[in-house]
Amino acid sequence: MCGMSIATSRREFLRLTGIGSAGVAASQLAGLGFNTAFAAQRAARRKLEGAKQTASICPYCAVGCGTIVASKHDNKGTRIVNIEGNPDSPISTGSLCPKGAATFQLAVNDLRVTKVMRRKPFATDWDREEIPYDAAMDRITELVAKAREETFVEREPGTGKLINQATGIFALGGATNDNEENYLIAKVMRMMGVVRIENQARI
Ligand code: SF4
Repeated sequence: MCGMSIATSRREFLRLTGIGSAGVAASQLAGLGFNTAFAAQRAARRKLEGAKQTASICPYCAVGCGTIVASKHDNKGTRIVNIEGNPDSPISTGSLCPKGAATFQLAVNDLRVTKVMRRKPFATDWDREEIPYDAAMDRITELVAKAREETFVEREPGTGKLINQATGIFALGGATNDNEENYLIAKVMRMMGVVRIENQARI
């Protein structure tokens, strides 16, 4: 938590944090209410104390950067306490892009929406109406089937070549879809004749 007084000038801030000059005493920063780097390192170490470190791979894209997943086990079960780049990975040598670096927030996040939210037709704002999962699946199925039925092209106009394409559907994956989810989405879409598929790994 930043406890810097509003009156503290930018120059003073830079000087005390060592950006403006080297060799700043921790007590000076502590006096301003800052968490020092030393304290931050200790906190990070405490978080990992007793944790099991497991080498893994970032779930998002085909680069396959290496990660280390730290987990702890207690009477409530196993929980992930940290995910960071794996310096032993020959692919990424410890680096992760911003998306991969945020993987922990995907795995451990109390803010995720866990219910299906529906925006009513012609609504002018997001009214956050909750609907049952089965009702949402039925409605999606109904609309996808309708769009496919109405826009399916069996043979290419002009040449008569067999193409079997659902030309009215485009698939765009969510940014947090992992490789396995994207694999399944691609399979389902191709099964329906959809050829315009993007998994949004690079957006
Ligand atoms: S999403 Fe980023 S961190 Fe993950 S594998 Fe791809 S490049 Fe690496």
